[in-house]
Amino acid sequence: MIAPGATIGMLGGGQLGRMTAMAAARLGYRTHVFCPEVDSPCAAVAAYHTCADYRDAQALAAFAAAVDVVTLEWENIPVETIGLLSRQVPVHPGAKVLEIAQDRVAEKGFINGQGIATAPFFDAPDAAAAAAALTRLGTSAILKSTRMGYDGKGQVRLDPGCDVAAAWRAMGSDAGIVEGLVDFVAEISVIVARTEAGQMASYPPVENRHQHHILSQTLVPAAITPALAATAVSMAERLAAALQVVGLLAVEMFVTGDGRVLVNELAPRPHNSGHWTIDAAATSQFEQLVRAVCGLPLGSVAVLAPAVMENLIGDQVDQWAAILAEPGARLHLYGKAEARPGRKMGHVTRLLPGAAVPLST
Ligand code: AMP
Repeated sequence: MIAPGATIGMLGGGQLGRMTAMAAARLGYRTHVFCPEVDSPCAAVAAYHTCADYRDAQALAAFAAAVDVVTLEWENIPVETIGLLSRQVPVHPGAKVLEIAQDRVAEKGFINGQGIATAPFFDAPDAAAAAAALTRLGTSAILKSTRMGYDGKGQVRLDPGCDVAAAWRAMGSDAGIVEGLVDFVAEISVIVARTEAGQMASYPPVENRHQHHILSQTLVPAAITPALAATAVSMAERLAAALQVVGLLAVEMFVTGDGRVLVNELAPRPHNSGHWTIDAAATSQFEQLVRAVCGLPLGSVAVLAPAVMENLIGDQVDQWAAILAEPGARLHLYGKAEARPGRKMGHVTRLLPGAAVPLST
């Protein structure tokens, strides 16, 4: 067990790292962030900051020597970096988890290998393979870059008969995956925390609504039947156990009109759809990550009140004063200087009137 007073190393300097550092501080830990940005949301609240490239071996060695455990807030940290650090200090989640989560083809293959459904997909190493995949699917599809995509970046819709070569160029990557377009009625997610000893705790499924491919709102809990919720949680836990994740696993899913649940994507880190847990759950996802990677008992995932989390994207952050004046609205700002379009600047969680939700333990 890594007891309070120890230093947690955080790879990545964004808002997910920031909120983890704040939760760690509450439990008496210090955070040492490693990221290449000089000015980052996490460094602004962390005790220590190493500002270096993720492949800087010397800086990594000094960082590993200065911390008691390492976790991450971004799954695209180079796997070699995790390998280097792991020789000196425990890193959770580990390299195997990242290898799968960094590659959409490997990830979907892994999920299907666990007997869990995804959208139909084809590996597309070039434009000709993408065109062949579209023909085989016979329906509309999405071409996604295999690696490094987020918030809809590197994604292009394909319709039967479209110009696939142009779509390939617009995707902007040298490796792709073609996925059948899922006609979903809702997008949901489940966040599971798992310790090294295999203890797991899952927050109930929440519903996610997107605008321009970026998460706009999370509704807590998702308005789905208890049976569907149980299916979603058991899928997420099966994946977390099979991956042997230590830390968090966020599982994004589609619910179809005929009551099926398909897994879309995995993120082995805190997730935007779990921000509500700071204000409306007994233990936040960030504290849960600290507990999991330090070998502490996991906290209760009880929902204290139904809630809606809304992201403040780009200039939506200018509403901060009005939000502060709203009774019951809980404002979180990430301290980013420039409100560029599409940039997540903060979020607000509104607790809804009503009794506690008896969905979880
Ligand atoms: P992703 O980067 O895979 O999470 O995709 C971003 C968003 O695009 C998802 O949250 C969905 O709204 C949409 N999307 C992605 N893949 C599919 C799919 N196969 N079918 C329908 N919508 C999708």
